[in-house]
Amino acid sequence: MAGDRVAPRQPQDLVVLRPEGLYCPQGDFHIDPWRPVPRAVITHAHADHARRGHQAYLCSAPGAGVLRERLGGINLQALDYGKRIDMNGVAVSLHPAGHVLGSAQVRIEHRGQVWVASGDYFVSGAGDANASCTPFEPVRCHTFITESTFGLPVYRWRPQAELMAEIDRWWQGNAEVGRASLLLAYSFGKAQRVLTGVDAGIGPIVVHDTVHTINRAYRAAGVALPVTLRLDEVKDINLLRRALVIAPPGVRSGPFAGALGDFGDAFASGWMQLRGARRRQGADRGFALSDHADWPGLQSAIAATGAQRVIVTHGEEAVMVRWLQQQGLQAGSFSTEFGVDDALDQAQG
Ligand SMILES: [Zn+2]
Ligand SMILES: [Zn+2]
Repeated sequence: MAGDRVAPRQPQDLVVLRPEGLYCPQGDFHIDPWRPVPRAVITHAHADHARRGHQAYLCSAPGAGVLRERLGGINLQALDYGKRIDMNGVAVSLHPAGHVLGSAQVRIEHRGQVWVASGDYFVSGAGDANASCTPFEPVRCHTFITESTFGLPVYRWRPQAELMAEIDRWWQGNAEVGRASLLLAYSFGKAQRVLTGVDAGIGPIVVHDTVHTINRAYRAAGVALPVTLRLDEVKDINLLRRALVIAPPGVRSGPFAGALGDFGDAFASGWMQLRGARRRQGADRGFALSDHADWPGLQSAIAATGAQRVIVTHGEEAVMVRWLQQQGLQAGSFSTEFGVDDALDQAQG
């Protein structure tokens, strides 16, 4: 990594990079750490951000259900969005990130300095909000730590209504010729986003058990989802011929897909924007539906914070850092161990 890209450390920094993850020295807590720590503030329950083994966890109130579902009996404190708590003299609050249920940006204030660590967030240049969770809320700060999973100009999401109409047409077309529509989507977040967007009048909706488990947490948190069936609840095979079946990508070559009979398949992922990725996956169709900010979304979200200093994490850092520097901002990157939860090959059968 080029030296001028790494965020230079300053003495009063409220977040620094430690081997365990992002760390606030003044408040003595980590944010989404990848190694076990005493106190972890968790932005959201995707596996690369919410890991096992921490002594104490803090997350947003709407995110608590999924976090418990995924990590079991943890020592968890849940905090309402916007409510401040004191951690060793540092004011900490959580603000909606619009990425998945309960996703939060972490606002840290100490001696007049405000930092915000975004976690993963969804803001689209097309102006869409994520209907399956509380939409992203810009938070003013001096320093903004932003994700940049899709931080390249090629990533510009089409309007969500267009993408959903396209999924509906694909489903309808399959139903008309009597085959199931297997939509491969990450089970936490993407699956529920699809559920809130498709036209449930086209036919029955069947979900994989991992999607069902997360749906339960969404419904418990008050998110309205259409009626869904698990595969073993489907007694009439003819039902499957008209069904939209939502399952994680890992099931594609296993017994779950085998039980569907004749089916068409498609991926729902931001990576589908790239023709090469579509081809490599070999599915019939790809829908570029992402729960991460696209290039214009990242730019508008960063501008809305008013931050003069920006630290970029996740994947595509170099181009974003350069762009920010060209805008006259102080910009650098943290090399983190966050993954790409929009991944195509989540083998979580
Ligand atoms: Zn995520
Ligand atoms: Zn992430």
